[in-house]
Amino acid sequence: MPGLSKYVDPMRRKLIAGNWKMHGSLAANAALLNGILAGTDAVTCDVAVCVPAPYLAQCKSLLSGSAVAWGAQDVSMHTSGAYTGEMSAAMIKEFDCRYVIVGHSERRSGHAESNEAVGRKAAQALKAGLTPIVCVGETLVQRESGATAEVVLGQLDTILGAISEQDAARIVLAYEPVWAIGTGKTATPDMAQEVHALIRGKLVERNPAAQSVQVLYGGSMKPDNAGQLMSMPDVDGGLIGGAALKVDDFLAIVRAACAAP
Ligand code: PEP
Repeated sequence: MPGLSKYVDPMRRKLIAGNWKMHGSLAANAALLNGILAGTDAVTCDVAVCVPAPYLAQCKSLLSGSAVAWGAQDVSMHTSGAYTGEMSAAMIKEFDCRYVIVGHSERRSGHAESNEAVGRKAAQALKAGLTPIVCVGETLVQRESGATAEVVLGQLDTILGAISEQDAARIVLAYEPVWAIGTGKTATPDMAQEVHALIRGKLVERNPAAQSVQVLYGGSMKPDNAGQLMSMPDVDGGLIGGAALKVDDFLAIVRAACAAP
């Protein structure tokens, strides 16, 4: 039932992770990262930026020792070899990344990534010591036909099948309704909570320790809706696209996360 969680864990910190997608330049990133650093010296939540791969070295140089972690937006499902254009988890780890996004809907739709592939990517990330931010979510047609729970839990089931029981407690989950990404349409807090609780239930079924997993909401989270979304018991933060490219908006969402219950 929306608003209620069976798995309240007071130790679960909120996480705000920016997904920069294919935006940025060395100069623009420096301004954005320095702005974020200036506003995050005393944060009580987790903060991260997931940047285009060519900028991982810049993140390492500017963010090392700060409260802001960084990560990539995709990883190969292979360990190494003849995979032109791909990046292995070990390569990403060399830049001291903490996170890598896997299964973003733009990768699923633009690169035909299946749940099996997403699971293998998550497994590679975990093996290299990275935390995968695993994205799941339904399309508008699926929501309108009442298939949201079936779709999201089906995605999660396959992905969890590719990783060990122990590793199920070492991931971050992002519920990103596809119809809300970059559209300005947002799930209501109750809609988000309902799916987050289902996701948490599935994670905990796999491993009781997974109640500590941060389940993020993504899809047009902005300063004006972030507080309400994150007041829900199973919404542990946000995966932020557009608003992550504006210092003031990103920091306002970070403040909302730090202030949330
Ligand atoms: C995203 O790309 O993961 C995302 C949530 O984008 P936006 O915040 O722009 O909807």
